[in-house]
Amino acid sequence: MIKVRCPECKKDTYTGMTTLTFQRKGITIKVKEIPAEICPSCQEAFIDGPISEYVDELVKEVSNMHNPPKMLRERGVQLKQVAMAI
Ligand SMILES: [Zn+2]
Repeated sequence: MIKVRCPECKKDTYTGMTTLTFQRKGITIKVKEIPAEICPSCQEAFIDGPISEYVDELVKEVSNMHNPPKMLRERGVQLKQVAMAI
């Protein structure tokens, strides 16, 4: 992964892990342990293009799988959270 410098703080980032949270169809999808470059100052995470594309695909797939029966939806029953790690 290429070294990035935080555009806000002008600090060199370090290689670490981050967690992203997505809201799709009323559920929260949390993707953990995403490799990222992290700013030591503002904690902003910079994710490599191919990795963020992969995370997008993962979230799309999970939200497509989530299709509760109409009866449950009408009663407001929802799966609230899906957590995964890559
Ligand atoms: Zn920063």
